[in-house]
Amino acid sequence: MTTNALDPSALEPSAPSALSLSTTDFSQLNLVKALQARLHHLGYQQATPIQAKAIPAILAGRDLLAGAKTGSGKTAAFALPLLQKLVGQRAGGGNHVGALVLVPTRELAQQVADSFISYGAELAPRAKVIAVFGGVSVNSQMLALRGGADILVATPGRLLDLLGSNAVKLSQLKALVLDEADRMLNLGFTEELGEILKQLPDQKQTLLFSATFPEEVLSLTAKLLTDPVEIQMQEAQSADIEQRVYTVNRSNKTALLAELIKVRQWRQVLVFASAKRSCDHLAQKLEKRGISAQVFHGDKAQGARSRVLDGFKNGEITVLIATDIAARGIDIDKLPVVINFELPRSPADYLHRIGRSGRAGETGEAISLISHDEYHHFKVIEKKNKLRLPREQYPGFEADAEAPLDCPSRQDKPMAKPEGTGKKKRKKLPKINDAIWKRPS
Ligand code: ADP
Ligand code: MG
Repeated sequence: MTTNALDPSALEPSAPSALSLSTTDFSQLNLVKALQARLHHLGYQQATPIQAKAIPAILAGRDLLAGAKTGSGKTAAFALPLLQKLVGQRAGGGNHVGALVLVPTRELAQQVADSFISYGAELAPRAKVIAVFGGVSVNSQMLALRGGADILVATPGRLLDLLGSNAVKLSQLKALVLDEADRMLNLGFTEELGEILKQLPDQKQTLLFSATFPEEVLSLTAKLLTDPVEIQMQEAQSADIEQRVYTVNRSNKTALLAELIKVRQWRQVLVFASAKRSCDHLAQKLEKRGISAQVFHGDKAQGARSRVLDGFKNGEITVLIATDIAARGIDIDKLPVVINFELPRSPADYLHRIGRSGRAGETGEAISLISHDEYHHFKVIEKKNKLRLPREQYPGFEADAEAPLDCPSRQDKPMAKPEGTGKKKRKKLPKINDAIWKRPS
Protein backbone atom coordinates (compact mmCIF):
# COMPACT_ATOMS: atom_id res chain seq x y z
CA MET A 1 0.00 0.00 0.00
CA THR A 2 1.36 3.40 -0.88
CA THR A 3 1.19 6.30 1.50
CA ASN A 4 0.33 9.42 -0.34
CA ALA A 5 1.43 12.21 1.84
CA LEU A 6 0.02 15.56 0.90
CA ASP A 7 2.49 18.17 -0.11
CA PRO A 8 2.18 20.64 2.79
CA SER A 9 2.61 23.57 0.46
CA ALA A 10 -0.44 22.39 -1.43
CA LEU A 11 -2.69 23.12 1.49
CA GLU A 12 -4.62 26.21 2.18
CA PRO A 13 -3.49 27.60 5.50
CA SER A 14 -4.96 24.97 7.72
CA ALA A 15 -3.88 21.86 9.37
CA PRO A 16 -3.76 19.98 12.54
CA SER A 17 -1.13 20.20 14.87
CA ALA A 18 -1.00 16.95 16.63
CA LEU A 19 -2.11 18.00 20.07
CA SER A 20 1.07 16.63 21.57
CA LEU A 21 3.49 18.77 19.56
CA SER A 22 3.02 21.91 21.60
CA THR A 23 5.17 22.73 24.58
CA THR A 24 3.35 25.75 25.94
CA ASP A 25 2.09 25.24 29.45
CA PHE A 26 -1.29 26.79 30.26
CA SER A 27 0.33 28.50 33.23
CA GLN A 28 2.32 30.67 30.80
CA LEU A 29 -0.79 32.15 29.24
CA ASN A 30 -2.04 34.53 31.94
CA LEU A 31 -5.25 32.63 32.49
CA VAL A 32 -7.01 33.07 35.82
CA LYS A 33 -6.65 30.30 38.38
CA ALA A 34 -10.19 28.98 37.98
CA LEU A 35 -9.58 28.31 34.28
CA GLN A 36 -6.16 26.78 34.82
CA ALA A 37 -7.54 24.52 37.53
CA ARG A 38 -10.34 23.42 35.27
CA LEU A 39 -7.95 22.57 32.42
CA HIS A 40 -5.91 20.56 34.86
CA HIS A 41 -9.02 18.64 35.91
CA LEU A 42 -9.87 18.03 32.27
CA GLY A 43 -6.46 16.50 31.79
CA TYR A 44 -5.23 19.15 29.35
CA GLN A 45 -1.51 19.21 29.95
CA GLN A 46 -0.33 21.67 27.38
CA ALA A 47 -1.80 24.25 25.07
CA THR A 48 -2.06 23.26 21.42
CA PRO A 49 -0.13 25.53 19.04
CA ILE A 50 -3.20 27.52 18.08
CA GLN A 51 -4.14 27.96 21.72
CA ALA A 52 -0.64 29.11 22.60
CA LYS A 53 -0.83 31.82 19.95
CA ALA A 54 -4.48 32.82 20.10
CA ILE A 55 -5.04 33.09 23.85
CA PRO A 56 -2.55 35.93 24.51
CA ALA A 57 -3.74 37.84 21.42
CA ILE A 58 -7.38 37.59 22.46
CA LEU A 59 -6.65 38.53 26.06
CA ALA A 60 -4.84 41.59 24.72
CA GLY A 61 -8.00 42.60 22.90
CA ARG A 62 -6.73 42.04 19.37
CA ASP A 63 -8.81 40.91 16.42
CA LEU A 64 -7.77 37.50 15.18
CA LEU A 65 -7.61 35.68 11.88
CA ALA A 66 -6.80 32.02 12.39
CA GLY A 67 -6.38 29.18 9.92
CA ALA A 68 -6.52 25.76 11.49
CA LYS A 69 -8.35 22.60 10.75
CA THR A 70 -10.83 20.65 12.81
CA GLY A 71 -9.27 18.98 15.78
CA SER A 72 -6.58 21.56 16.45
CA GLY A 73 -8.22 22.82 19.63
CA LYS A 74 -9.78 26.01 18.32
CA THR A 75 -12.71 26.01 20.71
CA ALA A 76 -10.57 26.41 23.82
CA ALA A 77 -8.42 28.91 21.92
CA PHE A 78 -11.32 31.36 21.86
CA ALA A 79 -13.45 30.08 24.74
CA LEU A 80 -10.85 30.42 27.49
CA PRO A 81 -9.88 34.07 26.90
CA LEU A 82 -13.49 35.11 26.21
CA LEU A 83 -14.67 33.52 29.44
CA GLN A 84 -11.90 35.30 31.30
CA LYS A 85 -12.72 38.67 29.78
CA LEU A 86 -16.50 38.54 29.87
CA VAL A 87 -17.77 36.58 32.81
CA GLY A 88 -18.97 38.90 35.53
CA GLN A 89 -18.74 41.90 33.19
CA ARG A 90 -22.26 41.93 31.83
CA ALA A 91 -24.44 44.88 32.75
CA GLY A 92 -27.77 43.63 34.04
CA GLY A 93 -31.11 44.06 32.33
CA GLY A 94 -32.26 43.54 28.77
CA ASN A 95 -31.54 40.51 26.67
CA HIS A 96 -27.99 41.61 26.03
CA VAL A 97 -25.20 39.28 25.07
CA GLY A 98 -21.49 39.65 25.82
CA ALA A 99 -20.05 37.46 23.09
CA LEU A 100 -21.67 35.94 20.04
CA VAL A 101 -20.21 32.79 18.49
CA LEU A 102 -21.59 31.99 15.06
CA VAL A 103 -21.25 28.41 13.83
CA PRO A 104 -22.51 26.65 10.70
CA THR A 105 -24.34 23.64 12.15
CA ARG A 106 -26.60 22.69 15.00
CA GLU A 107 -24.27 20.06 16.36
CA LEU A 108 -21.42 22.49 16.42
CA ALA A 109 -23.57 25.04 18.26
CA GLN A 110 -24.35 22.56 21.00
CA GLN A 111 -20.80 21.27 21.10
CA VAL A 112 -19.21 24.71 21.34
CA ALA A 113 -21.68 25.81 24.03
CA ASP A 114 -20.94 22.64 26.00
CA SER A 115 -17.23 23.41 25.74
CA PHE A 116 -17.74 26.95 27.09
CA ILE A 117 -19.72 25.51 29.99
CA SER A 118 -17.11 22.89 30.66
CA TYR A 119 -14.12 25.23 30.47
CA GLY A 120 -15.89 27.77 32.69
CA ALA A 121 -17.16 25.25 35.24
CA GLU A 122 -14.96 26.53 38.07
CA LEU A 123 -15.43 30.25 37.45
CA ALA A 124 -17.30 32.38 39.95
CA PRO A 125 -19.65 33.86 39.04
CA ARG A 126 -20.69 31.12 36.67
CA ALA A 127 -20.78 31.90 32.98
CA LYS A 128 -24.22 32.04 31.39
CA VAL A 129 -23.88 30.23 28.09
CA ILE A 130 -26.76 29.64 25.70
CA ALA A 131 -26.92 27.75 22.43
CA VAL A 132 -29.58 28.55 19.86
CA PHE A 133 -30.12 26.64 16.64
CA GLY A 134 -32.89 25.50 14.35
CA GLY A 135 -34.70 22.19 14.33
CA VAL A 136 -35.93 22.50 17.90
CA SER A 137 -38.63 24.63 19.50
CA VAL A 138 -37.77 28.29 19.77
CA ASN A 139 -39.70 28.91 23.00
CA SER A 140 -37.22 27.48 25.45
CA GLN A 141 -34.45 29.39 23.67
CA MET A 142 -36.42 32.62 24.04
CA LEU A 143 -36.96 31.93 27.72
CA ALA A 144 -33.30 31.13 28.26
CA LEU A 145 -32.32 34.43 26.66
CA ARG A 146 -34.33 36.48 29.17
CA GLY A 147 -31.88 38.51 31.15
CA GLY A 148 -29.23 38.04 28.46
CA ALA A 149 -26.15 35.84 28.44
CA ASP A 150 -22.39 36.03 28.70
CA ILE A 151 -21.95 33.83 25.67
CA LEU A 152 -24.43 33.06 22.92
CA VAL A 153 -23.57 30.32 20.44
CA ALA A 154 -25.83 30.37 17.42
CA THR A 155 -26.48 29.21 13.90
CA PRO A 156 -27.29 32.18 11.65
CA GLY A 157 -30.88 31.32 10.71
CA ARG A 158 -32.19 30.83 14.21
CA LEU A 159 -30.32 33.87 15.47
CA LEU A 160 -32.07 36.03 12.86
CA ASP A 161 -35.42 34.65 13.98
CA LEU A 162 -34.63 35.53 17.57
CA LEU A 163 -33.35 38.99 16.66
CA GLY A 164 -36.49 39.56 14.65
CA SER A 165 -38.66 38.89 17.66
CA ASN A 166 -36.45 40.93 20.00
CA ALA A 167 -35.62 37.91 22.09
CA VAL A 168 -31.99 38.91 22.01
CA LYS A 169 -30.12 42.20 21.73
CA LEU A 170 -26.65 42.54 20.31
CA SER A 171 -26.10 46.26 20.70
CA GLN A 172 -23.77 45.78 23.69
CA LEU A 173 -21.80 42.96 22.14
CA LYS A 174 -18.14 42.93 23.15
CA ALA A 175 -16.87 40.07 21.01
CA LEU A 176 -17.86 38.21 17.86
CA VAL A 177 -16.48 34.80 16.88
CA LEU A 178 -16.98 33.26 13.46
CA ASP A 179 -16.14 29.58 13.80
CA GLU A 180 -15.64 27.60 10.60
CA ALA A 181 -16.24 30.70 8.51
CA ASP A 182 -15.48 28.91 5.23
CA ARG A 183 -18.13 26.35 5.96
CA MET A 184 -20.68 28.92 6.93
CA LEU A 185 -20.27 30.65 3.57
CA ASN A 186 -20.15 27.34 1.72
CA LEU A 187 -23.49 26.40 3.18
CA GLY A 188 -25.09 29.48 1.73
CA PHE A 189 -25.27 31.55 4.90
CA THR A 190 -23.73 34.60 3.23
CA GLU A 191 -26.93 36.60 3.22
CA GLU A 192 -27.89 35.68 6.78
CA LEU A 193 -24.42 36.57 7.94
CA GLY A 194 -24.64 39.96 6.27
CA GLU A 195 -27.96 40.64 7.98
CA ILE A 196 -26.57 39.70 11.36
CA LEU A 197 -23.37 41.73 10.96
CA LYS A 198 -25.39 44.87 10.22
CA GLN A 199 -26.97 44.62 13.63
CA LEU A 200 -23.72 44.51 15.59
CA PRO A 201 -21.99 47.49 17.16
CA ASP A 202 -18.89 48.79 15.37
CA GLN A 203 -16.73 48.61 18.46
CA LYS A 204 -16.09 44.98 19.23
CA GLN A 205 -13.40 42.36 19.13
CA THR A 206 -13.73 39.98 16.19
CA LEU A 207 -12.19 36.52 15.91
CA LEU A 208 -12.44 34.59 12.67
CA PHE A 209 -11.55 30.91 12.35
CA SER A 210 -11.49 29.07 9.05
CA ALA A 211 -9.87 25.92 7.71
CA THR A 212 -9.52 27.37 4.22
CA PHE A 213 -9.44 30.87 2.77
CA PRO A 214 -11.40 31.11 -0.46
CA GLU A 215 -12.36 34.51 -1.94
CA GLU A 216 -15.56 34.86 0.05
CA VAL A 217 -13.79 34.35 3.36
CA LEU A 218 -11.05 36.79 2.44
CA SER A 219 -13.52 39.50 1.55
CA LEU A 220 -15.32 38.88 4.82
CA THR A 221 -12.08 39.19 6.78
CA ALA A 222 -11.24 42.44 5.02
CA LYS A 223 -14.59 43.88 6.04
CA LEU A 224 -14.70 42.56 9.57
CA LEU A 225 -11.24 42.58 11.06
CA THR A 226 -9.17 45.52 12.22
CA ASP A 227 -5.41 44.97 12.21
CA PRO A 228 -5.84 41.32 13.14
CA VAL A 229 -3.21 39.02 14.57
CA GLU A 230 -2.86 36.30 11.95
CA ILE A 231 -2.25 32.72 12.93
CA GLN A 232 -1.88 30.03 10.34
CA MET A 233 -1.05 26.50 11.31
CA GLN A 234 0.92 25.20 8.38
CA GLU A 235 1.69 21.62 9.29
CA ALA A 236 0.67 19.05 6.74
CA GLN A 237 -2.87 18.01 7.28
CA SER A 238 -2.84 14.47 6.05
CA ALA A 239 0.72 13.27 6.10
CA ASP A 240 -0.33 10.16 7.90
CA ILE A 241 -3.49 9.36 6.00
CA GLU A 242 -3.28 6.60 3.44
CA GLN A 243 -5.42 7.56 0.50
CA ARG A 244 -6.74 4.92 -1.88
CA VAL A 245 -8.88 5.21 -4.95
CA TYR A 246 -10.84 2.26 -6.33
CA THR A 247 -12.42 2.55 -9.74
CA VAL A 248 -15.68 0.62 -9.82
CA ASN A 249 -18.83 0.49 -11.91
CA ARG A 250 -21.53 2.58 -10.30
CA SER A 251 -23.82 -0.45 -10.17
CA ASN A 252 -21.18 -2.28 -8.10
CA LYS A 253 -20.41 0.43 -5.59
CA THR A 254 -22.67 -0.74 -2.78
CA ALA A 255 -21.43 -4.30 -3.16
CA LEU A 256 -17.81 -3.13 -2.97
CA LEU A 257 -18.54 -0.99 0.07
CA ALA A 258 -20.21 -3.96 1.79
CA GLU A 259 -17.25 -6.16 0.88
CA LEU A 260 -14.75 -3.68 2.31
CA ILE A 261 -16.71 -3.29 5.54
CA LYS A 262 -16.96 -7.07 5.97
CA VAL A 263 -13.38 -7.91 5.03
CA ARG A 264 -11.58 -5.08 6.76
CA GLN A 265 -13.57 -5.31 10.01
CA TRP A 266 -12.98 -1.66 10.90
CA ARG A 267 -13.87 -0.58 14.40
CA GLN A 268 -15.73 2.34 12.87
CA VAL A 269 -16.45 3.61 9.40
CA LEU A 270 -17.61 7.04 8.30
CA VAL A 271 -19.11 6.92 4.81
CA PHE A 272 -19.75 10.11 2.89
CA ALA A 273 -22.54 10.42 0.36
CA SER A 274 -23.42 13.51 -1.61
CA ALA A 275 -27.04 14.06 -0.64
CA LYS A 276 -29.58 13.19 2.03
CA ARG A 277 -31.44 10.89 -0.31
CA SER A 278 -28.38 8.89 -1.24
CA CYS A 279 -27.54 8.43 2.45
CA ASP A 280 -30.94 6.90 3.15
CA HIS A 281 -30.82 4.81 0.02
CA LEU A 282 -27.36 3.48 0.80
CA ALA A 283 -28.31 2.58 4.38
CA GLN A 284 -31.23 0.53 3.07
CA LYS A 285 -29.05 -1.25 0.55
CA LEU A 286 -26.41 -2.08 3.16
CA GLU A 287 -29.12 -3.35 5.47
CA LYS A 288 -30.14 -5.84 2.75
CA ARG A 289 -26.55 -7.03 2.73
CA GLY A 290 -26.57 -7.62 6.46
CA ILE A 291 -24.74 -4.44 7.45
CA SER A 292 -26.43 -2.16 9.87
CA ALA A 293 -25.75 1.51 9.23
CA GLN A 294 -27.16 4.78 10.51
CA VAL A 295 -27.55 8.00 8.58
CA PHE A 296 -26.70 11.50 9.68
CA HIS A 297 -28.04 14.42 7.68
CA GLY A 298 -30.02 17.60 7.88
CA ASP A 299 -33.46 16.05 7.34
CA LYS A 300 -33.29 14.12 10.55
CA ALA A 301 -34.95 15.60 13.61
CA GLN A 302 -32.53 17.13 16.09
CA GLY A 303 -33.15 14.44 18.70
CA ALA A 304 -32.44 11.70 16.20
CA ARG A 305 -29.27 13.45 15.05
CA SER A 306 -27.99 13.67 18.61
CA ARG A 307 -28.81 10.03 19.30
CA VAL A 308 -27.04 8.87 16.16
CA LEU A 309 -23.99 10.98 16.91
CA ASP A 310 -23.82 9.73 20.50
CA GLY A 311 -24.22 6.15 19.30
CA PHE A 312 -21.39 6.60 16.86
CA LYS A 313 -19.17 8.28 19.42
CA ASN A 314 -19.64 5.55 21.99
CA GLY A 315 -19.18 2.78 19.46
CA GLU A 316 -22.72 1.37 19.36
CA ILE A 317 -22.96 2.39 15.74
CA THR A 318 -20.18 1.07 13.52
CA VAL A 319 -21.16 2.45 10.15
CA LEU A 320 -22.30 6.05 9.83
CA ILE A 321 -23.38 7.47 6.48
CA ALA A 322 -23.29 11.25 6.37
CA THR A 323 -23.44 14.29 4.15
CA ASP A 324 -20.71 16.91 4.31
CA ILE A 325 -22.84 19.45 6.07
CA ALA A 326 -23.87 17.13 8.84
CA ALA A 327 -20.39 15.78 9.37
CA ARG A 328 -18.76 19.15 9.53
CA GLY A 329 -17.35 20.22 12.83
CA ILE A 330 -18.53 17.26 14.84
CA ASP A 331 -15.89 16.10 17.24
CA ILE A 332 -15.41 12.40 16.64
CA ASP A 333 -12.22 10.84 17.85
CA LYS A 334 -9.70 9.07 15.65
CA LEU A 335 -11.62 7.27 12.97
CA PRO A 336 -9.68 4.44 11.39
CA VAL A 337 -11.25 5.03 7.98
CA VAL A 338 -13.30 7.46 5.95
CA ILE A 339 -14.95 6.27 2.75
CA ASN A 340 -16.02 8.52 -0.09
CA PHE A 341 -18.95 6.59 -1.48
CA GLU A 342 -19.67 9.66 -3.54
CA LEU A 343 -17.23 12.48 -4.09
CA PRO A 344 -17.66 15.88 -2.52
CA ARG A 345 -18.40 18.64 -4.95
CA SER A 346 -15.76 20.95 -3.54
CA PRO A 347 -12.09 19.90 -3.58
CA ALA A 348 -11.62 21.53 -0.16
CA ASP A 349 -14.26 19.20 1.24
CA TYR A 350 -12.21 16.24 0.09
CA LEU A 351 -9.51 17.35 2.51
CA HIS A 352 -12.03 17.99 5.25
CA ARG A 353 -13.45 14.53 4.81
CA ILE A 354 -10.21 12.63 4.83
CA GLY A 355 -9.02 14.73 7.74
CA ARG A 356 -11.56 12.93 9.90
CA SER A 357 -9.43 9.85 9.87
CA GLY A 358 -6.18 9.48 11.74
CA ARG A 359 -6.70 12.43 14.01
CA ALA A 360 -4.13 13.29 16.68
CA GLY A 361 -1.26 11.42 15.16
CA GLU A 362 -2.98 8.09 14.43
CA THR A 363 -2.55 6.74 10.94
CA GLY A 364 -5.81 6.90 9.08
CA GLU A 365 -7.15 5.61 5.83
CA ALA A 366 -9.28 7.35 3.24
CA ILE A 367 -10.86 5.31 0.46
CA SER A 368 -12.65 6.82 -2.52
CA LEU A 369 -14.90 4.65 -4.66
CA ILE A 370 -15.16 6.35 -8.01
CA SER A 371 -17.32 5.35 -10.92
CA HIS A 372 -16.97 6.47 -14.53
CA ASP A 373 -19.15 9.53 -14.03
CA GLU A 374 -16.78 10.71 -11.29
CA TYR A 375 -13.43 10.15 -12.99
CA HIS A 376 -13.28 13.67 -14.32
CA HIS A 377 -14.35 15.30 -11.07
CA PHE A 378 -11.80 13.32 -9.12
CA LYS A 379 -9.09 14.67 -11.41
CA VAL A 380 -10.26 18.17 -10.55
CA ILE A 381 -10.09 17.33 -6.84
CA GLU A 382 -6.56 16.02 -7.26
CA LYS A 383 -5.46 19.01 -9.25
CA LYS A 384 -6.83 21.55 -6.81
CA ASN A 385 -5.29 19.72 -3.87
CA LYS A 386 -2.04 18.99 -5.72
CA LEU A 387 -2.53 15.26 -5.27
CA ARG A 388 -1.89 12.36 -7.59
CA LEU A 389 -3.26 9.07 -6.43
CA PRO A 390 -2.97 5.78 -8.26
CA ARG A 391 -6.26 4.28 -9.45
CA GLU A 392 -6.67 0.76 -8.13
CA GLN A 393 -9.08 -2.05 -8.90
CA TYR A 394 -10.51 -4.19 -6.12
CA PRO A 395 -10.44 -7.84 -7.19
CA GLY A 396 -13.91 -8.97 -8.24
CA PHE A 397 -15.18 -5.39 -8.54
CA GLU A 398 -13.06 -4.08 -11.39
CA ALA A 399 -14.48 -1.16 -13.33
CA ASP A 400 -15.22 -1.74 -17.00
CA ALA A 401 -12.82 0.00 -19.36
CA GLU A 402 -15.70 1.98 -20.85
CA ALA A 403 -18.58 3.50 -18.92
CA PRO A 404 -21.43 0.95 -18.87
CA LEU A 405 -24.61 1.92 -20.70
CA ASP A 406 -26.50 2.64 -17.48
CA CYS A 407 -23.79 4.94 -16.14
CA PRO A 408 -24.92 8.52 -15.52
CA SER A 409 -21.83 9.81 -17.29
CA ARG A 410 -23.48 8.59 -20.49
CA GLN A 411 -26.76 10.23 -19.71
CA ASP A 412 -25.56 13.70 -18.90
CA LYS A 413 -27.11 13.68 -15.46
CA PRO A 414 -25.81 16.44 -13.26
CA MET A 415 -24.32 15.49 -9.93
CA ALA A 416 -26.75 15.57 -7.05
CA LYS A 417 -26.99 18.97 -5.40
CA PRO A 418 -25.14 18.95 -2.12
CA GLU A 419 -27.12 19.43 1.02
CA GLY A 420 -27.48 22.99 2.24
CA THR A 421 -27.20 24.77 -1.08
CA GLY A 422 -30.86 25.53 -1.52
CA LYS A 423 -32.56 28.75 -0.42
CA LYS A 424 -33.37 28.62 3.23
CA LYS A 425 -36.93 29.16 4.35
CA ARG A 426 -37.37 30.57 7.79
CA LYS A 427 -40.61 30.76 9.65
CA LYS A 428 -41.52 34.21 10.89
CA LEU A 429 -41.83 34.35 14.64
CA PRO A 430 -44.19 36.55 16.62
CA LYS A 431 -42.73 39.78 17.93
CA ILE A 432 -42.14 40.04 21.64
CA ASN A 433 -42.73 43.80 21.69
CA ASP A 434 -43.46 46.56 19.25
CA ALA A 435 -39.96 47.30 18.04
CA ILE A 436 -40.07 45.76 14.62
CA TRP A 437 -36.96 44.34 13.15
CA LYS A 438 -36.65 45.56 9.60
CA ARG A 439 -34.99 43.44 7.00
CA PRO A 440 -32.28 45.55 5.46
CA SER A 441 -32.92 45.83 1.73
P1 ADP B 1 -11.41 22.25 16.70
O1 ADP B 1 -12.43 23.28 17.07
O2 ADP B 1 -10.14 22.83 16.24
O3 ADP B 1 -11.97 21.23 15.79
P2 ADP B 1 -11.83 21.29 19.35
O4 ADP B 1 -11.78 22.55 20.09
O5 ADP B 1 -13.14 20.68 19.08
O6 ADP B 1 -11.01 21.44 18.01
O7 ADP B 1 -10.86 20.26 20.11
C1 ADP B 1 -10.68 18.94 19.62
C2 ADP B 1 -10.50 17.98 20.78
O8 ADP B 1 -9.25 18.23 21.44
C3 ADP B 1 -11.57 18.12 21.84
O9 ADP B 1 -11.96 16.83 22.26
C4 ADP B 1 -10.89 18.86 22.98
O10 ADP B 1 -11.43 18.50 24.22
C5 ADP B 1 -9.45 18.41 22.85
N1 ADP B 1 -8.46 19.42 23.28
C6 ADP B 1 -8.46 20.74 22.97
N2 ADP B 1 -7.40 21.36 23.49
C7 ADP B 1 -6.70 20.42 24.16
C8 ADP B 1 -5.48 20.45 24.93
N3 ADP B 1 -4.79 21.58 25.09
N4 ADP B 1 -5.07 19.28 25.48
C9 ADP B 1 -5.77 18.15 25.30
N5 ADP B 1 -6.91 18.05 24.59
C10 ADP B 1 -7.37 19.17 24.02
MG1 MG C 1 -14.18 23.64 16.13
